[in-house]
Amino acid sequence: MPNSPRKDRLIKEYIHDPYFTKEKYPDPSVCKKCGVVFHEGVFQWMKEVPAGAAEMICPACRRIEDKYEGGIVYLEGEFLQKHKDEILNLIKNVEEDEMAYRPLERIIEIKEEDGKLVITTTYEHLARRIGEAVHKAYKGDLNIQYPEGWKYARVHWKRD
Ligand SMILES: [Zn+2]
Repeated sequence: MPNSPRKDRLIKEYIHDPYFTKEKYPDPSVCKKCGVVFHEGVFQWMKEVPAGAAEMICPACRRIEDKYEGGIVYLEGEFLQKHKDEILNLIKNVEEDEMAYRPLERIIEIKEEDGKLVITTTYEHLARRIGEAVHKAYKGDLNIQYPEGWKYARVHWKRD
C-alpha cells in the first residue's frame, strides 16, 4: 500500500508518544487486550487478524493500565447536574465515533469529583472532541488549553 497522507499523519502522531516506538511493535501484531491490529504501520480495527501476527499490548491499553492520560476534561455547572445521563451518553458516543477512526483514542476513566465530571482520555484529541461535542450540543463555556504543547489537552466546560 502506498503511503497515504492519512497514514503519514497517524505515524507522525505516534512518534512523540512514549508508549509508541516502532521497534516494539512487530508488523503485523495484535493487542491481547483490545484486539487492535498494528499493520502496515498503523493501528487499525480488522475483521481478521493477519496471518502470523505477533501478540502485544497496544499503547492505548498500556496508557489505560498506567492511567497515563493525554487529556483531561472537566464538566461542571448546574446544567450538568440535571442532564448528567444525557451528557454521559453523548460522551460515550463521541468515544465510539473517535475510536472507529483513531483506534488508540479511548476514555481511561470517568469519575465525579466535587460535583464535577472528570474524564481522562488516552490522547489529547479525544479530550478536545468531548469538550467540543458537549459545547456544540449544550452551549455553555468551553476552554481548551494545551499546557505542555499539543500533546496534552486540558478541557473545561461549564454551564449554569
Ligand atoms: Zn489494546
